Amino acid sequence: MSATDRPPRAVARAGAVLEIDLAAIARNWRRIAARLRPGTSCAAVVKADAYGLGMARVAPHLAAAGCTLFFVATIDEGIALRRYLPGVEIAVLDGLLPGTGGEFRRAKLIPVLNALDEIAAWRGGAGTRDLPAMIHVDTGMSRLGLTRQDLAVLARAPDMLAGLTLRAILSHLACADDAAHPHNEAQLLAFRAALAQLPPAPAGLAAGSGVFLGTDYHFDFVRPGAVLYGVNPLASRPNPMAQVIRLKGRILQVRNVDRGETVGYGAAHRMDRPGRIATVAVGYADGWLRSASHRGSAGIAGRRVPLVGRISMDLMTFDVTGIDPALSRPGNFVDLIDESYGVDAVAAAAGTIGYEMLTALGRRYHRVYRGEAG
Ligand SMILES: *Cc1c(COP(=O)(O)O)cnc(C)c1O
Repeated sequence: MSATDRPPRAVARAGAVLEIDLAAIARNWRRIAARLRPGTSCAAVVKADAYGLGMARVAPHLAAAGCTLFFVATIDEGIALRRYLPGVEIAVLDGLLPGTGGEFRRAKLIPVLNALDEIAAWRGGAGTRDLPAMIHVDTGMSRLGLTRQDLAVLARAPDMLAGLTLRAILSHLACADDAAHPHNEAQLLAFRAALAQLPPAPAGLAAGSGVFLGTDYHFDFVRPGAVLYGVNPLASRPNPMAQVIRLKGRILQVRNVDRGETVGYGAAHRMDRPGRIATVAVGYADGWLRSASHRGSAGIAGRRVPLVGRISMDLMTFDVTGIDPALSRPGNFVDLIDESYGVDAVAAAAGTIGYEMLTALGRRYHRVYRGEAG
């Protein structure tokens, strides 16, 4: 469904409108794919409902752009994705929970096996053949994946992998957003050493940021997530990715507030001059993190207005003193996320990262998907 066949009344009722540009997501995917070493393919990570943007809409769009391998975190996400995309490969990063092998097979999901026990469980009894699997090796995150000791065990007993078709061997970088961090190269070397101990299989080390560390990190496939949705891959450089979302919040009321009066919970903001306060229908229940209280800002007709006072559950307040009252009328929108003030800027004001901001985006927003055909 496109924006135009939604009833306009839904927009009229909306306290906030979230626009998601599917064409920009596809463009970002192609932009990443175009950077890769020849022969390296580009998967896509659509876990956490495509980082909050709606896997049901995002994943088919990426498939139409040419993506054939998708990563999700959980088996439930994989089962949901299988319904939208019958023909692609879907890998489940969290691995194989005990008792879920049958469901993996029914939905044709590939488990990313993170431990020797999971490998044994996936193989099940004897006689299994051609069971697709991925293996995650830990090269320096101490989170998921086979340890160095596990690899040594496997190297001595290669039969432990009999019957498996290794669709991939992967590892994950801990510091890829900081190109100068020595941990990157240490993990690269550890990954190469792990590959040498395992049977040949397509190898993948880089997520989105890792792609920008250079072709040494590309191997056979990369699996970007956040960059597809507009997050900056390298914190210290200008963002090469297209912004994907816009968020507009509705002004509910505008009032004159005298010098000395306070705004919001805790009376935590006191006006040091007379001014005008606009109350907007977005709060922490919508993912506008409360930690952005007193620090965030919004745009009105290209001008920035500061968020003042604490963010409430459903509301926040901006100081619109000096803004043309015709622009800051109740019913109008303020720009909370746009081209010039993207998810990373919003996240920084809340003391977090774009990833958290995206995945926290609220369920109450009226969502409009654009660029369907692109
Ligand atoms: C989430 C995740 C990704 C995607 O990471 P981005 O930083 O969003 O590109 C890739 N691999 C693994 C193992 C992950 O957990």
